[in-house]
Amino acid sequence: MVQHILIVEDEPDLVRMLEYNLRREGYQTRSAYSGQAALELVASGPVPDLILLDLMLPDMPGTEVCRQLRMDERTRSVLIVMLTAKSQETDRVVGFELGADDYVVKPFSIRELLLRIRAILRRTHTAAPPPASEMVFDRLRVDGVEHRAWLDDEELRLTALEFKLLSTFVARRGRAQTRDALLADVWGIDAAVTTRTVDTHVKRLREKLGPAGRYIETIRGVGYRFRSRPEGAES
Ligand code: CA
Repeated sequence: MVQHILIVEDEPDLVRMLEYNLRREGYQTRSAYSGQAALELVASGPVPDLILLDLMLPDMPGTEVCRQLRMDERTRSVLIVMLTAKSQETDRVVGFELGADDYVVKPFSIRELLLRIRAILRRTHTAAPPPASEMVFDRLRVDGVEHRAWLDDEELRLTALEFKLLSTFVARRGRAQTRDALLADVWGIDAAVTTRTVDTHVKRLREKLGPAGRYIETIRGVGYRFRSRPEGAES
C-alpha cells in the first residue's frame, strides 16, 4: 500500500529535497507552499497518511493549519509532523496541544526525518496492545476495531495518537505505566520524543475525556495509571 505524504513548506529548495527523498523511499508526495493551499489540497483530494507541516508559512501559522485540520471530521486523525525552528519552542507546545503527533527541529538530517516518518506511520498501523474489539469501562466505551471511543453516548473527538493512548490505558487498567513504557508502546521506541510529550498528550486526552479524565491517575515520579475500577466500585 503506497502511503501519501503532504509537504507543507514554503521554501522551494527544501520542498524539492523532501519530495526527492520521500519518493525515493516509496512514498507518494504532494506539496503545498502555503497554509491555504494545503487546506484546499486536503479538502479537494484524498486525505494523506501524513502531513509534514512547517510552522512558518507565508499566509498563516502552521499551528492554525493544524487547528483547522483537527476541527474537520475528515482530517481530525491525520498524522501531523511539524517542522519547526529551534526558537519556536512555544509554537511546538501549542502544536502538540492542537494535536500534532511529532515534530522535527530545523535544520534536520533527512535520514533522521525519514526514520521518524517511518516510525510514526508504523506505530499507527501496528496498534501496540489491543485491538480488543470493544472495551467498556464505566461510562467509557472504546472500539479497537473502528478506532472510536464514547463517553456515555457521546463520541469523543480523539486524534489517532490520543486514541492509541486511551486504548493502551484502558487495556492495562490498574497497572502503572511509566512515561518510558508509554513512549515505547504508543509513540514507537525510536520516536525521539521526550517524556514531556507524554505529559502534554495525557493532559489533552484528560481534557477530552471530561468527567472520565479522572480515570487516568498520575503516579508521581513514575507515570500514569488507568483506574482498575470505577469510583464507588471498590469493594
Ligand atoms: Ca517556512
